[in-house]
Amino acid sequence: MNSSPLGIICHGGAGTIDDKAAYAAGLTEAIDEGYRLLRQSASAMEAVVTAVRMMEDNPLYNAGTGSDLTIDWQTEMDASLMTQEGRFGGVAGIAGVKNPILVAQKVMTETDHLLLCGFGATEFARRMGFEDYNVVTERALARLREVIDHGSKYFHKMNEQRLSDGVPPTPETGEDPLIEKKMGTVGAVARDKHGNLAVATSSGGIVGRMRGRVGDAAILGAGTYAGPGGAVSCTGHGEEIMRRSLARDIVERMTTMPASTAMTLAVAEARRKKLAFGAIGFDARGGICYGHTTPDMAYGYKVAERLFLFTEEKGKPH
Ligand code: ASP
Repeated sequence: MNSSPLGIICHGGAGTIDDKAAYAAGLTEAIDEGYRLLRQSASAMEAVVTAVRMMEDNPLYNAGTGSDLTIDWQTEMDASLMTQEGRFGGVAGIAGVKNPILVAQKVMTETDHLLLCGFGATEFARRMGFEDYNVVTERALARLREVIDHGSKYFHKMNEQRLSDGVPPTPETGEDPLIEKKMGTVGAVARDKHGNLAVATSSGGIVGRMRGRVGDAAILGAGTYAGPGGAVSCTGHGEEIMRRSLARDIVERMTTMPASTAMTLAVAEARRKKLAFGAIGFDARGGICYGHTTPDMAYGYKVAERLFLFTEEKGKPH
């Protein structure tokens, strides 16, 4: 029997968070439920899927019901989950379902594939019995309107400029324009009573992106990764997270150092490169970690009956 504690850590996105109390309340519900399941001998996978599903159902977060929109007012969601022994399931650019993480779970358990995208993913969801669901929140509409009205500061304009200049993205130069934005992807990493780890991530994507764009939340090694060293879920600027396989990068570091050191090093490197990024994780020994380069990240965890929330954070980001 493994003696290190069971526990769960969740995030509700990196960026700048104004309504911290509301984000903390949503996290508390998801963490408490995930923890309750773990205490009742549920697997780490069940705990992370439940926690992420609850946050997908909370319109505050940019995942599931609260998903942000593409530049042409479409909902396209990404989600994935992974267990430490290498089982993975993901969906990319899925529409018309309430809980992308549950479809990702079905991809893992019911198919020979790792990742389904777009129409094929929705069609698979229907076959698995997921009902049609197409809610767009007022908040998501307002956020896209804001991007359209003040476009030059944001994602699609940034890409337009890169294309028209013929300049490849060079995140080493200049501030990431997303650093001040609230992103709001959700994620969870859990450790069950047997010491097994699992991770799940779900995102409505970055507001105002091109249609068809896939973010890190769907991608093995980028937004979601679990391996012998540990398990990590990321949030932030998906293109940069994918370019560097950041979740995998942190888990690999965990094979030779504690989770918190691995995270501190990854965050310091991301900060030097001015990337908008945040992550949470567990290492194989039960060490917990979190970190972000953005002004805020909504996160919280529960270990040994003690709930800790980002609103209790003192001083500088970890
Ligand atoms: N990582 C997400 C994406 O790029 C955004 C987020 O973290 O909210 O799609």
